[in-house]
Amino acid sequence: MTAGIYSVRQKLNTLVITKEFGGQMAHKAVDIENYPGFEKISGFELISKFEDQMKKKGVKVLDDQVLELKKEGDIFLSLTERGKKIESRAVIIATGSEPRKLNVPGESQFLGKGVSYCTTCDGPLFNQKDVAVIGGGDAGFEAALFLNGYAKKIYILEYGEEIKAGRDNQEKASTISKIQIITSAELKEIKGNDFVNQIVFKDRKTGEEKTLDVEGVFVQVGYQPATSFLKNLVELNEKKEIIVNFETFETKTPGLFAPGDVNSGKVKQIIVACGQGAQALMHAYKYLNK
Ligand SMILES: Cc1cc2nc3c(=O)[nH]c(=O)nc-3n(C[C@H](O)[C@H](O)[C@H](O)COP(=O)(O)OP(=O)(O)OC[C@H]3O[C@@H](n4cnc5c(N)ncnc54)[C@H](O)[C@@H]3O)c2cc1C
Repeated sequence: MTAGIYSVRQKLNTLVITKEFGGQMAHKAVDIENYPGFEKISGFELISKFEDQMKKKGVKVLDDQVLELKKEGDIFLSLTERGKKIESRAVIIATGSEPRKLNVPGESQFLGKGVSYCTTCDGPLFNQKDVAVIGGGDAGFEAALFLNGYAKKIYILEYGEEIKAGRDNQEKASTISKIQIITSAELKEIKGNDFVNQIVFKDRKTGEEKTLDVEGVFVQVGYQPATSFLKNLVELNEKKEIIVNFETFETKTPGLFAPGDVNSGKVKQIIVACGQGAQALMHAYKYLNK
């Protein structure tokens, strides 16, 4: 969205193609407290402000997903899920990351029927219900803290022997009696009829299989870069992040830029993604002028 705003200000003919607004910010369960200008703001509110500003500046938006990107001569072709073929002279890839899946039986079957990757989107649907959060990192703890406003009982299942979340989140969770943390827990299966009603996990210390009766399962086991549609136009590292020139954010393909979480940069934050989006666009502008 930042690249979009900068682009129309350079009077470039600009189209933002996105399958939804907000990306990871939409998944953030607690308020954002490190984006300058806003002491405390929800992810949803911040996204809405970005979106409003971008649309008021005149950025055109196509609500679609790019399934393949090709380059023919000097022209890029973005092929979308809805069958569109968009031609452009430069492309900014800002596809960030998407939630990592567990790949256990029942996960895809019960998606939207108890299984969720977005606590802020779906948490309120689990009012007075028992739920499990899979993943004991900061995202898992933040999800549990958000669910505290709705759910009756919240289990946090962590695969490792120790919790990975920061001290701050651990301290907050320790004051809430309905949050129960289970370590060395490997999720094996999500069960149900029409909706989820149980999870099965292995206690990795004893090898014993155990069950919990829950109606919601919030998967919070990290994110992976959304780069699978790019084929050989970019070079990827072992984490499947795009390797860019960190001065220009250009990839190995001239005219193709990759700012934000999708590249191999070490600091994954909103302000960083925005800053890189602005820089990438200004370098794309230079590329187009050449
Ligand atoms: C739980 C959690 C909490 C966080 N808390 C904070 C915080 O407090 N402060 C902070 O600064 N950062 C925080 N972050 C990190 C921050 O959210 C990211 O750094 C930031 O969202 C990166 O922005 P991005 O635009 O690069 O990518 P993303 O936010 O991942 O956005 C990518 C967008 O591209 C779209 N997309 C992907 N593939 C395609 C495709 N093929 N076609 C069309 N569209 C596509 C997606 O739908 C999405 O809208 C948090 C992240 C998480 C997960």
